[in-house]
Amino acid sequence: MVTITRFAPSPTGFLHLGHVYSASLARRRAREDGGKFLLRIEDIDVTRCRPEFEEAIYEDLAWLGLDWDAPVRRQSDHLDDYAALLEKLSDRDLIYPCFCTRKEIAAEIARSNTAPHGPEGPAYPGTCRNMTDAERQSRFARGDAYALRLNMVNAVASVDLAALRFEEIGKGFILCDPLPFGDIVLARKETPASYHLTVTFDDAIQNVNHVIRGQDLFPSTHIHRLLQALLDLPTPAYFHHGLISDNKGRRLSKRDKDATIKSLREYGYRPEEVLKMVDYG
Ligand code: GLU
Repeated sequence: MVTITRFAPSPTGFLHLGHVYSASLARRRAREDGGKFLLRIEDIDVTRCRPEFEEAIYEDLAWLGLDWDAPVRRQSDHLDDYAALLEKLSDRDLIYPCFCTRKEIAAEIARSNTAPHGPEGPAYPGTCRNMTDAERQSRFARGDAYALRLNMVNAVASVDLAALRFEEIGKGFILCDPLPFGDIVLARKETPASYHLTVTFDDAIQNVNHVIRGQDLFPSTHIHRLLQALLDLPTPAYFHHGLISDNKGRRLSKRDKDATIKSLREYGYRPEEVLKMVDYG
């Protein structure tokens, strides 16, 4: 089997050293195995993505010599695919509309002491899960904006959970435990699909069999593994690498202007010097 890896940045800011680390690990893995290294632009969030950041991704990678195999997949070109996935889940009654605002969710969590606590903070308290059909229809008729959430309990009940696992390279097989995340969002009010849905589908459609990405995304893999089972998609092997931190030991983020590739270029660093900064030996 040919190794296929990918780098999947979101054009919501300039690439930083953490991205270079991810991209170079994924590219090296593909090149060493004689496989393919793909580039995917995760531009589904229209409220945060900007064309100049997408341009900078191509420029920075080319400048660093991190070449990728064509074609580039841009998520915003595939909205129909994601809509079809949501349709499939809806036909099986596994998703429901959620009209709550962030404020309402926070208030409900504060009020109720039974709200589940997920690995990434408090889970959705389930307010809209049991709305009657009539109530839903009247909210639709009023034109109220809504997100689509996975009914986690029903989703888990519809698969053989005990058999769901994923390979974390170097660590072996990990049992999939998505329940604590609660009813995650699969389509947002302002975005037609969420990260979890698009990333799971795209890795499958691009035949990615090694997902190499930061440790911060490790918890999400439980959700992705469940979605693979629900949508009948293959499961790649995963490798979640450690995160690059600044000289104060804090994790780098898009807010750290000094660590962006753009600013390192402007400071006069050469590509090989920047690659050396993330050299993992
Ligand atoms: N688009 C995500 C990000 O920029 C990465 C997705 C992934 O590697 O699974 O954080």
